Amino acid sequence: MEIKPIVIIAAMQEESDFLINKLKNAKCENVGKYKFYEGFINNYPVVICESLVMSINAAIATHIAIEKYNPIAILNEGTAGAHEKTIHKGDIVIGEKCINITSCKTPNKKAGEGSNSLDWKLVNFISGEENKLEYQYGDKRLINIAKQVTYTEGMVYFGTIGSGDVWNNEIDRILWLNREYKTLCEEMEGIAVYTVANNFNIPVLGIRIISNNEILGEEFDKNLGLKSQEFTYELILKMIQEKYLDKLV
Ligand code: SAH
Repeated sequence: MEIKPIVIIAAMQEESDFLINKLKNAKCENVGKYKFYEGFINNYPVVICESLVMSINAAIATHIAIEKYNPIAILNEGTAGAHEKTIHKGDIVIGEKCINITSCKTPNKKAGEGSNSLDWKLVNFISGEENKLEYQYGDKRLINIAKQVTYTEGMVYFGTIGSGDVWNNEIDRILWLNREYKTLCEEMEGIAVYTVANNFNIPVLGIRIISNNEILGEEFDKNLGLKSQEFTYELILKMIQEKYLDKLV
């Protein structure tokens, strides 16, 4: 029987280097600008993809990975900015759900009436379904395994990841997203990875290390990407140990 690999999608080198080093017999395949490192962890096939930043890259990389490897599960890990005062750099957010925070419909305003992003609504533009907002869901079995991972360097939160091609530095907008849509953090790739994986019925989960909290003035440190990789590594070991994979093959 063909063994389906676990695929990891990570945007930046700081979010992929530790995991690539964990691969046995690693080799790198390039498809366009997307790098796929194929190898083994505990004798199980794992592919780490360096997808580049932003949703369009993550969507393309996820689709290539699905076509090329037929993965058993896709994990998306990396850095994110906190959407709550209580969530700090070094904490982890696991995406039970993910929403697109850049897919918006504005109210009607005449010339000269200005623009206020707090009046915009998040919508998905589903044909025939006016103003509908759709959440993308993380895989329940993967969430349960993530709950068993021990993380000693901060809190681990389970909830909604906000995702899209934006870096919000306006505190009112950050708090509005948190209030209206319960986002715990924001990043730029999750919504693409979740949507593509769900459209192809591949179990998916996002793991995000908080690298900045603009509300508190905690500045971006992309080197914290190491910690999302360490958490993800433990998750991969548990997936292999718990025979999660056997249940799906
Ligand atoms: N300019 C950066 C690179 C891009 S930052 C650099 O110094 O190298 C954007 C990346 O960080 C994306 O992959 C995104 O997922 C993540 N990210 C971290 N914090 C974010 C935030 N507050 N808002 C949006 N994306 C964030």
